[in-house]
Amino acid sequence: MKTLNASPIFTPISIGNVKLKNRLVVSPMVTVYCDPDGMATERFIVYHETKAKGGWGAIIVEDYAVDPLGRGFWTPGLWKDEQIQSHAELTERVHREGSKIIAQIYHCGRQTTPAVIGEQPVSASPLPCPVLGAIPRELTIPEIKKIVSQFGDTALRAKKAGFDGVEVHGAHGYLIAQFMSKYSNKRCDEYGGSLENRLRFPLEIIKDIREKCGPDFMIGFRISADEKVPGGRTIEETKTIAIKLEKQGIDALHVSAGTYESTWAIIPPMNITPGWIVNYAEEVKKVVNIPVMTVGRINDPFLAESILLSGKADLIAMGRPSLADPDLPNKFAKGQHDDIRHCIGCQQGCLETLFRNEPIRCLVNPTLGYEYLEELKKTEQPKNITVVGAGPAGLEAARTAALAGHKVTLYEQTDHFGGQFATGAIPPSKGDMSSFVSWLGNQIKKLGVDIQLNTKYTPAICDEEKPDVVIIATGATPNKPPISGIDGENVLNAEDVLLSKVSTNQKVVIAGGGMIGCETALYLASLGKEVTIVEMLPTIANDEEFTRRVLLLKNIEENHIEVITDAKITSINSNAVQIEKSQETINIPADTIVLALGMKSNNSLAQELEGKAPLKIIGDAIESRNALEATREGFLAGVEV
Ligand code: SF4
Repeated sequence: MKTLNASPIFTPISIGNVKLKNRLVVSPMVTVYCDPDGMATERFIVYHETKAKGGWGAIIVEDYAVDPLGRGFWTPGLWKDEQIQSHAELTERVHREGSKIIAQIYHCGRQTTPAVIGEQPVSASPLPCPVLGAIPRELTIPEIKKIVSQFGDTALRAKKAGFDGVEVHGAHGYLIAQFMSKYSNKRCDEYGGSLENRLRFPLEIIKDIREKCGPDFMIGFRISADEKVPGGRTIEETKTIAIKLEKQGIDALHVSAGTYESTWAIIPPMNITPGWIVNYAEEVKKVVNIPVMTVGRINDPFLAESILLSGKADLIAMGRPSLADPDLPNKFAKGQHDDIRHCIGCQQGCLETLFRNEPIRCLVNPTLGYEYLEELKKTEQPKNITVVGAGPAGLEAARTAALAGHKVTLYEQTDHFGGQFATGAIPPSKGDMSSFVSWLGNQIKKLGVDIQLNTKYTPAICDEEKPDVVIIATGATPNKPPISGIDGENVLNAEDVLLSKVSTNQKVVIAGGGMIGCETALYLASLGKEVTIVEMLPTIANDEEFTRRVLLLKNIEENHIEVITDAKITSINSNAVQIEKSQETINIPADTIVLALGMKSNNSLAQELEGKAPLKIIGDAIESRNALEATREGFLAGVEV
């Protein structure tokens, strides 16, 4: 097996007095695995322990609140001494596996809601967060002094709990960033106005931590190099700030980007180029002498390696890649690159759930967050398992069952893996989705799954093979409502269009403005077609994750795609679509109509196989939903057969 330990990734580095065995750092991500009082739960500890076993040089644990009123979600807390014990167990178990562990400490300021903290939020100025909306109360000077002291006290508790250091969260529009930026700080006292005044709050915090924790305690600082909002900070001022922070005694800078108003920059979706923040890190690195860490959809260790070789950063923070594959460093070290499961930037499990204040999950790693409950064990009674359907649910079921030691046969009636998920990778900016399908395909081949493509599974095959269990993962099929003319030759399905099974003429009307309709519209616009979307609801792409939706709507506008909302298609003929809008009937000229009107589950096979073998139905074959549910159900089906 090829060993890549010569890679710069595996060159140790010191941050202050803390020596890391390699350059890969788990960046802090809110998990909602702690209890409501900020205590570390077994779920939280095992989640981090799993990463430490995976070989990460350091883990930065997310958002330790310095005050219970400074939490945006159920983040961990070290605002009182009673919380030290549970987090001490966390640090001990992570250290035992060889990783360093750093507590990120924060106050979210206005980036919370009264629903989470039970009170009006506070901020530098009484300006609401443009996303969450609650109007904060402007902090008084004594209150500012109190929060400064809370940061120092929290850092000291982190030290007592065994953390190797703290990272002061000055990025992403949280309270420290609210003070630092002209975008959110409109104060006219000594904490507002000039850069010197806006920096007073973070500099006092660093001083307080240093005084309380001593000269040897590691202090890092996270900063948004560019806030990516009108009037927000840009890289030039960030460089000046970096120099001042270093002078104040920090040991490392972690260069990120964005605020809640530009969430796509904090947690960039698949539309954003991997490593897009690296050039900002390089700019910061030019003006400081302390280690600089970069972040931002660096989802491949080879990309991490090339950044280190370029000298643009000293450390690579990988958040979601560590969710997708906690063993990434060890696999890379052993040359098992094909086995690394890459984050695809879908946001389904780690962002959509988070913004519901629910524990995070991962679409490509269905065991994430369940490590404390489940361990995949080899079976002592191997069975013959048939899986029907090679979408994400079926592939994951086949992989898991084969890993457990069962003999698995996979039937798929088309000539390829992935189902709708593979089709979903075709529109512009969505190519990363295919990496998960190809990873699953490779894994099941390595595990010896018997793969039968181009084969429709029938009751006759079931009678002949007599499997012990049939897992039905037959997915969903497009809806086709009773509209006059819908069976015409000029009416096509979005899926067939994306798969290039059919081609459209020049003027296209897309029936349905959900995610599939919008992405198909973009795909056709990229081919030079004139496209109109007709949607019944007042807005489009409502089923799209919100960071991707922002970018999708922008793309639709930039591609001059016409959007007609609050409209119902009443009939279709050979050269037009008739719609009703505001009690008016309107004809829209169209050579081709593409249907994107949702999906319905396809589980007729279950009825055909009734009584022939024990059945398990999973994924969209139960009900059309997102792939996050499909892979989890696939995993559970593979475990429980
Ligand atoms: Fe990446 Fe999606 Fe998993 Fe989040 S849920 S870590 S974006 S693959």
